[in-house]
Amino acid sequence: MSIALGDGNHVASAPADRKIRGQQANVYAAESRIAHGRWFDSIEEVQAFVDSLTASDWWFAPHVVRVEVSRLVSKNWAGVGCTDDEHNAGTIALTKNGQNELTVLHEVAHTITHKGGGHGPVWVRNYLKLVYYVLGSDHYQRLYSSMQAHGVLFD
Ligand SMILES: [Zn+2]
Repeated sequence: MSIALGDGNHVASAPADRKIRGQQANVYAAESRIAHGRWFDSIEEVQAFVDSLTASDWWFAPHVVRVEVSRLVSKNWAGVGCTDDEHNAGTIALTKNGQNELTVLHEVAHTITHKGGGHGPVWVRNYLKLVYYVLGSDHYQRLYSSMQAHGVLFD
């Protein structure tokens, strides 16, 4: 059985589950090979950075007007991000290890990708767009190439 990646209405079959887990691992591997951009000293600094994104002329996610940043305590994750459809908003939470531009953009991409989108092609497209706008074309190209080299699925 094949499933449409990023379609939250589908119940994933076992092989597709493996594929999705593979996609996540491939994304993490691709990211580990590239620079993570500027590091932030505090959650407040990250909030100011994220506020500047949502206020930008190029902000392409009008369904998310605010992204709220908070502290995450986790040994397993540098950060998490999710949509808050009810409030046209999103939330991200970061550990100290996640207080850098690349991780923040990764999580912001989750807030603007519909629920159930995981690390599927729609999320990948949103993430790459954010990296292009914020970190520039060189950084975008390095991430894109690294994703290709690690077998990340695009649409
Ligand atoms: Zn993620």
